[in-house]
Amino acid sequence: MSGHTVQDNIVAVRGRLESALQKAGRTPGSASLLAVSKKKPAEDVQAAYEAGQRSFGENYLQEALDKQQALSMLDITWHFIGAVQSNKTREIAEHFDWCHTVDRLKTARRLSEQRPDHLPPLNVCLQVNISRQESKSGAAPEEVETLAAEIATLPGLSFRGLMAIPAPTVSFNEQRLPFRALRELLDTLRINHPDQPLDTLSMGMSDDIDAAITEGSTLVRVGTAIFGARAS
Ligand SMILES: *Cc1c(COP(=O)(O)O)cnc(C)c1O
Repeated sequence: MSGHTVQDNIVAVRGRLESALQKAGRTPGSASLLAVSKKKPAEDVQAAYEAGQRSFGENYLQEALDKQQALSMLDITWHFIGAVQSNKTREIAEHFDWCHTVDRLKTARRLSEQRPDHLPPLNVCLQVNISRQESKSGAAPEEVETLAAEIATLPGLSFRGLMAIPAPTVSFNEQRLPFRALRELLDTLRINHPDQPLDTLSMGMSDDIDAAITEGSTLVRVGTAIFGARAS
């Protein structure tokens, strides 16, 4: 895909984001765009960067580290959004600004311990299995409060909010339901943990941006609509 197309797509997705915010009666600019560049080359990341995009999400650690090295001269905020294996926590703690996919205490503790002292705390979201899908990542909704209370004590982490990947559904109204449930979980956490910087609802992808924004998403994670289909 040519750089020109990526830039056009960035402009189109930003327009879609802003019109969804407006339709929902939300403040312009109150949700941001995370460009998901998994399985896409560094040149595509650079093309999006040239269109003004600064935050990028990656799922596969080695692939991400290679791109970070190739693009080290760019001022990029890197988000890890893939499954976190225990033996990968050190490199995530050392090389990313955010991790959206914390779903157990062991991972949270390791990331906190392994975050280098010279870096600010790692921004984390707790991933929730909001649609209760069998064998999917994410904490069960009823585990959220207990995990949150522990995460809030970890000095190497900044606890920013919740993340979910709901089961795919077709209609706008069906898409809204799990996003609403995630927002309600965050509302409760904010009441119970007023000392934490819980400002992030990481929800919404290419096919459900509008429903996510309607339900309060502050960070949509968009791959296909920016970079095109991925080879599987
Ligand atoms: C791949 C991925 C996305 C982007 O999905 P698209 O449908 O391509 O927009 C968002 N979030 C996570 C966690 C992903 O793995």
